[in-house]
Amino acid sequence: MTDSLTGPGTRWGFIGAGKMASALIRGMVRAGTAPPSSIAASDPSPEARAALEAEGVMATGSNAEVADRSDVIVLAVKPQAMDVALGELGGRASGKLVVSVAAGVMVDRLASGLGPGVRVVRVMPNTPALVGEGAAAYCLGPGVTGEDEGLVLRMLQSVGIARRVPESLMDAATGLCGSGPAFVYAVVEAMSDGGVLAGLPRDLATAMAAQTVLGSARMVLETGLHPGALKDQVTSPGGTTIAGVHALERGGLRAALIDAVKAAATRSAELA
Ligand code: NAD
Repeated sequence: MTDSLTGPGTRWGFIGAGKMASALIRGMVRAGTAPPSSIAASDPSPEARAALEAEGVMATGSNAEVADRSDVIVLAVKPQAMDVALGELGGRASGKLVVSVAAGVMVDRLASGLGPGVRVVRVMPNTPALVGEGAAAYCLGPGVTGEDEGLVLRMLQSVGIARRVPESLMDAATGLCGSGPAFVYAVVEAMSDGGVLAGLPRDLATAMAAQTVLGSARMVLETGLHPGALKDQVTSPGGTTIAGVHALERGGLRAALIDAVKAAATRSAELA
């Protein structure tokens, strides 16, 4: 691979400039992985274009223009808009690396829509990429090189963690990391409600709930301990925390979260 691809000179092109593309773009700029001048995005929505233009990203209504000026093309349209977007690229991706973040759109379908000579990587990221704490799973299509994978990792690792999985596990990854932020927001909101019920002001309760989730997640990642062992460390006999854990078990929190991830994974497979 040339220095222009491995180095800061890589030109990134986003097809679709909605929530997920914006999170990746802003996360990459914030991390210093890609300067705004190295990024282009296309979207039919003037509002979506204006938001990125305000940050120094080249924005246009033409998918073809973005494809022509980019080394790596990131497909970030909704799955149901994918066939139209692929048609609008009109073979311009030939010889390039194309990264799709669309839920449920298989590598085979992308490859046949893009035409010969295109290397495809499917990614399931999530919007916490915006704050550098994304979690992404990805799988490689035929012909993708180690250098291509390095580029994809450069994008994803600048905005969080990334793990390679077989394509057969992409729906499971969609249920967990793609949809997971919504489940955690519900947990934070409910913990905040509990704080308010116990007498705390709302803004304090929400900040404490969010930081408690953040800190607990970092404990899991940084200690490498099993979450159950960490829970045991903070539950003293006859204490306050085990009383709360008992209430959680009575309320079925764990079964509800397991069901939520499975339901989202099943829905992802249905949409494919
Ligand atoms: P979004 O609706 O915010 O963004 C999609 C954008 O695509 C819109 O701005 C729309 O105007 C634009 N668009 C529509 N047709 C187009 C076309 N033909 N050419 C170019 N642009 C076009 O949706 P989103 O939430 O950003 O999702 C985009 C993709 O990211 C989806 O495929 C979704 O599965 C995937 N994804 C989203 C999340 C998430 O949390 N939002 C997480 C993981 C993956």
